[in-house]
Amino acid sequence: MFIDPFGRAVTYLRISLTDRCNLRCVYCMPKEGLQWQPRADQLSVEEIARVVETAAQGGVKRIRLTGGEPLVHPHIVEIVRRIASIQNIEEVSLTTNAMLLERLAQPLASAGLKRVNISLDSLDRDKFRRITRGGEIDRVWRGIAAAERAHLAPLKLNTVIVRGLNADELPALTRLTIENDWHVRFIELMPIGNAQDWGEGFPAPDERYVPVQEMRSQLSMFNLQPENAPIGNGPARTFRIPGAPGTVGFISPLGEHFCQNCNRLRLTSDGKLRSCLVVPNEVSLRGALQSGKPLEEFFRQAITQKPEHHNMLAATPADSQRGMSQIGG
Ligand code: SAM
Ligand code: SF4
Repeated sequence: MFIDPFGRAVTYLRISLTDRCNLRCVYCMPKEGLQWQPRADQLSVEEIARVVETAAQGGVKRIRLTGGEPLVHPHIVEIVRRIASIQNIEEVSLTTNAMLLERLAQPLASAGLKRVNISLDSLDRDKFRRITRGGEIDRVWRGIAAAERAHLAPLKLNTVIVRGLNADELPALTRLTIENDWHVRFIELMPIGNAQDWGEGFPAPDERYVPVQEMRSQLSMFNLQPENAPIGNGPARTFRIPGAPGTVGFISPLGEHFCQNCNRLRLTSDGKLRSCLVVPNEVSLRGALQSGKPLEEFFRQAITQKPEHHNMLAATPADSQRGMSQIGG
């Protein structure tokens, strides 16, 4: 078993399949000038499968594919098929902007994908296009419908809440749970690689952050009731409008640490194990993957480096040398 120095078992691996994306969300990527990792540095399907095999032998049961945008990876269906068939892997899920989901939902489900988390930052067509710098919300809705037809459930919708941008949509997004059995989750904006000006009409850096306590108080009219058991094993605090089929979750990486329950490890698309989103220590698997050396000792090394907790508010620019899309948000 992979147990870290603070007694936490590592059972969950998030894999960033690519740092590339078909959108440019303002809080995640600069408009232009991003240096993509050379394709030659990206892990092959075979290499990803080897990493997951070692993870599974060490007790990892759940895999989440992310990025960048995992659906732009040319071998996404094959990757899901390979890792879903690995012994001890109980669940393969994926986080996506859903631009390509309409076509891929069924092939992915047939390959063994169990669930999808879909990022949706606005219900307003024009605002959605502005936040994502070009995204089409109708494609997201078609992707959601396809995910439901393919039984990729429960469906989670992730919204990063930003003051002066989409915080006014908290009630409308919450209302989605009255009609649908979706889990809508509101996420605090993390100060990772996005301190720059986002352009005209966007809020200034020191205005953007909304703590989850404030989000909850803006939703007091719904009489949200806490759920006893968390949905999945994620870091969200979950609530429900009385009688609603769906739930509302709040994810607070800054305000309310969930480090004490952290069971995750991350793999970057260029083959580095990272034990924390914020702390920059990484262990490269590349050499071992190329030479055929066993990977277990590298996993143990990465897990030994897992910090007890992070302090994102005190993170320095050096801590976030990589943006969210590179680490795998
Ligand atoms: N492209 C996919 C998507 O957007 O769902 C997967 C990768 S994206 C980096 C994963 C998640 O990280 C998305 O839900 C996105 O909203 C979130 N994210 C990106 N940058 C963030 C930030 N600075 N603070 C909080 N969440 C962020
Ligand atoms: Fe792409 Fe996801 Fe980042 Fe938006 S949040 S730019 S969709 S990786």
